[in-house]
Amino acid sequence: MVAADGVHSLTRAAYADVFAPRVTTHRCRYIWLAADFAFDAFRFETAETEHGVMQLHGYPYTKNASTVIVEMREEVWRAAGLDRCGEAESTERCAAFFAGALGGRPLRSNSSSWTAFRTVVNDRWSHGNTVLLGDAAHTAHFSIGSGTKLAVEDALRTGRVRRGAARPAVRPGGVRERAPPRRRLHAARGPAAASLRWFEELGTYLDQPPRQFAFSLLTRSRRVTHDNLRLRDPAFTETVEDDFGCRPAHPRCSPPSGCAV
Ligand SMILES: Cc1cc2nc3c(=O)[nH]c(=O)nc-3n(C[C@H](O)[C@H](O)[C@H](O)COP(=O)(O)OP(=O)(O)OC[C@H]3O[C@@H](n4cnc5c(N)ncnc54)[C@H](O)[C@@H]3O)c2cc1C
Repeated sequence: MVAADGVHSLTRAAYADVFAPRVTTHRCRYIWLAADFAFDAFRFETAETEHGVMQLHGYPYTKNASTVIVEMREEVWRAAGLDRCGEAESTERCAAFFAGALGGRPLRSNSSSWTAFRTVVNDRWSHGNTVLLGDAAHTAHFSIGSGTKLAVEDALRTGRVRRGAARPAVRPGGVRERAPPRRRLHAARGPAAASLRWFEELGTYLDQPPRQFAFSLLTRSRRVTHDNLRLRDPAFTETVEDDFGCRPAHPRCSPPSGCAV
């Protein structure tokens, strides 16, 4: 039995003594909205309001619509009174906070509400003939856009195990008994956790000069390192190195040791 019942998995709760889940609720609040136009690319926008800093993650999902996630620390959310706003008012106010980024266009909701991201880690992913997949087994913060990929990889892996292409640590029932350590680490200390922390601490980065800020944003999850960024975008990396004078002194450093970046 495949239990792909999401972050609030009832199956996981029913066998909590076996799966041993640990669910961490994080400090930021976010709301998942949409815009009826396509952003030109993935957009990350900040709004420095009288209540504190807010952030918008926006990306097109069709030729004329975009996903928009508005996120902020809990204290900012409360100071802005968003904890007392319903769906319609929250949507309107988010559009107003980010009027510049949205070109004054409205946002659209779809049973949207404010929530806090939860990191889910389980010791075990299977029990008898039941296997957890996707968010039921592990979550990855949305800022690295990997949750669906991880869920599909789980499904492929389960299929391979069922077909007999199993690796050793597999029960006779055909499913992996323990969550692979790499995955458990991925949720707790991997790229998603690093990216989540970066966004929680966003306010501390806002005073950085633009290129330093961009470098920090691009390398926040540590999946992209200084060296790796040099391969992807040598021109940009050179300008950052020139800004901070770290290229001649540390030609192969990752991250550049002793430099301001
Ligand atoms: C704001 C946000 C943005 C994200 N953006 C991205 C992104 O850009 N790229 C990416 O890869 N991932 C992203 N993710 C993560 C991604 O959405 C999840 O990792 C992925 O949807 C997990 O798939 P799933 O099938 O495990 O769970 P879900 O997609 O949550 O599906 C679980 C399903 O089970 C159903 N269900 C639950 N209980 C029952 C029940 N008792 N009976 C019947 N049905 C039930 C639910 O209704 C739901 O349809 C984002 C997540 C968030 C919160």
